[in-house]
Order: sequence, then C-alpha cells, then structure tokens
Amino acid sequence: LTFLAIETTCDETGAAVLAGPRPPLRGVPRVLSSVVSSQVGLHRRFGGVVPEIASRAHVQQVLPMIDEAIRRAGVTLDDLGMVAVATRPGLVGALVVGLTAAKALAMALDVPLVAVDHLEGHLYACQLASPDREVYPCVGLVVSGGHTSLYHCRGPLDCELLGGTTDDAAGEAFDKVASLLGLGYPGGPEIERAAKAGNPRAFAFPRSFLHDARPIFSFSGLKTAVLYALRGPNEQLGPVVPTPEMVADLAASFQEAVVDVLVAKTRQVLAMTGLRRLGVGGGVAANGRFREKIAGMAAEQGVELFIPPMALCTDNAAMSGIALAKLAAGQTAELDVDVAAGLVRPGRKTAP
Ligand code: ATP
Ligand code: MG
Ligand code: FE
Repeated sequence: LTFLAIETTCDETGAAVLAGPRPPLRGVPRVLSSVVSSQVGLHRRFGGVVPEIASRAHVQQVLPMIDEAIRRAGVTLDDLGMVAVATRPGLVGALVVGLTAAKALAMALDVPLVAVDHLEGHLYACQLASPDREVYPCVGLVVSGGHTSLYHCRGPLDCELLGGTTDDAAGEAFDKVASLLGLGYPGGPEIERAAKAGNPRAFAFPRSFLHDARPIFSFSGLKTAVLYALRGPNEQLGPVVPTPEMVADLAASFQEAVVDVLVAKTRQVLAMTGLRRLGVGGGVAANGRFREKIAGMAAEQGVELFIPPMALCTDNAAMSGIALAKLAAGQTAELDVDVAAGLVRPGRKTAP
C-alpha cells in the first residue's frame, strides 16, 4: 500500500510518500520520499513562530511539497491508497491547511483519510528508522519546540502521558536563551555550535526537579538564571556585554543543564516503569551533547535506545507513517474530522 503523508502542525510544511505491506498491513512502511519546506527564514526576525505567517506559508507550500514528494517517489496520484495527515497538536491555522489538502485529496482519489497525532509521530520516527527492531513497548521521550514529555508507550497508538514540562519546553528554552545570548534562530543549533568552544562547568545553573520523583520538568528558572548571569553582579553598573568566550561558556553551561535534566528524569521513568526500551523524538533530540549523554545512560542501564537520525527528529511528514498502524486498526477519519490545538493531561492517551 503506497500512501501520502502531510505535515503542517507548526512551521515546517512536509510531505512524504511511504510504501507499506498490503492488508493485513503488518510491518513498518518504507519511506520512498520525504520533503520539508522550512519557514524559519520567515519567522527569524520575530524570534519565534508567528501563527498567521505560518498559516499563509503553509498555503503557499503545501501543494508544491505534495507534488515534489510524489515526483521524488516515482509514483502518481493514482498509486496512492491512503492520505495521512497530522491533525494535533499544533497551531490551529497551520493544522487546518494540511488537513484541508488531505481531505480534498482523499475525497478526489476516493481513498481512506487517516488523522494522526504529531507527538505519536515524533516517537514513531524511532520505528521508521529501525524497521527490523521492535521499539514498543518503551518509554517515550518527546523533546521538541512545544513539548518535553515522557510517555509509557504500550504500542505506537497506545502512548500514556506520564508527565511533562510545567512551563517552557526544552526547545523553547534553547530558542529563548539563544535570543538572550544574541545568537540566531532557531536557537538549538546555534547554542550547540557556540557551546563547542565553551566550558559546561563555567556556570552552575539550576537543574529543576532532579530530586523529585514526579516525571515533570521546568526550564523557565534556568532561562532566568542565564538572564541574571548576563546582568552581572551589580545591576547599577548596567548589563554585562558578554565576550565571545562568555557566550560560549553560558551556552555550554545552559546546554549541559538541560541535557542533565532530560537524561536524569528519563532514567527515573525507566526505573519506575521497568521498561527496557527507550524511544526519543523531537527537534532537541538532534542535539549532539544530548545524544551522547542519553546513549551513555542507556548503555549504563542496559536499556535499548532508539533515536532517529536528525532529519527524522525535527518536523517531517514521514513520521506520520504511523497512519499505516491506524489504518490496520480500522481507525480512519471521516471527512468532517477537525484539528485540535491542545494537549492531553497526564494519564490520558495522546489520541482521543
Ligand atoms: P512540537 O513537536 O512540540 O509541536 P515543533 O514541531 O516546533 O514542536 P520540532 O520541530 O520537533 O518542534 O523541534 C524544534 C525545536 O528543536 C526548536 O526549539 C529548536 O531550537 C530545537 N532544536 C533543533 N535542533 C536542535 C539542536 N541541535 N539542539 C537543541 N535543540 C534543537
Ligand atoms: Mg518546527
Ligand atoms: Fe514537532
């Protein structure tokens, strides 16, 4: 079964063509093509994603991306047997663009429409990247621009939210601290680059909830600590103008604090659940220092780690290939299906 997947949850317009086994649809689909048009250039001067600009850019990009994905896969529209689209969570105006395109195609081609959860997709990227290994059941960690969440995943479509951030998401903290440090947008890659020349022990930044048994995170205090370090010891003397060395030390110390917390809380949840597999997804999972330390922790705990290559960590449509499992489970969407911006509370499943 060849199918199309569409991604427009935030600021990346993505389309992918995947090929899976015919019914009963057991197994992991192969990615035939996956293209992403990033809007970061449009949002850069605002230091964050502007929802209205995002929606308009999706309108411009969604059809060209679909055409390009189909062309690169070497298939035609008539080969498609399903259309998949991420319908939650995300920016409402952005989500609607992808869903509308998906509905129109599904109706015109008379094929099933499948609505998927973007966060389940971020975790499913682990399974796409390791088609011959069993990822589930596992602890799932999503570290992205909007989420820092830990899940108990019994299967790809059965992820129970254990807990998440109480304020900023990890990626959001990277973006905001990069802006404080005068680095570019998006902040994650910029901080990672600056941190290479810095000392991760130069500043003793806070590591929230480290000694709390609950699977929760907080990054806003850390962000404020960076701000105070920049202000210097005496506000009357005015702000410190940081030297490149100081920026590097701040970046390295900040990054180390985020990574330490992510790794420690994940280790706690592995111990709490007794699960022996760990799947990680989301843009922050592209961070080299994070990958190094989470791999070290997994090895030390004897836990099997799944972490996708970078292109499958940041937003893409291929990860919505989780739709194949939904189709197999009979979970198709009606043409009046709507988008949902919001989050689920702990204890609830990702999808309704
Ligand atoms: P969500 O998935 O929660 O809806 P999103 O889709 O915007 O949010 P992603 O595209 O998965 O999030 O990730 C984007 C985030 O990842 C940004 O905050 C960015 O700064 C961060 N990021 C990207 N690369 C790196 C990196 N190398 N180090 C740290 N953070 C990174
Ligand atoms: Mg994004
Ligand atoms: Fe995402």
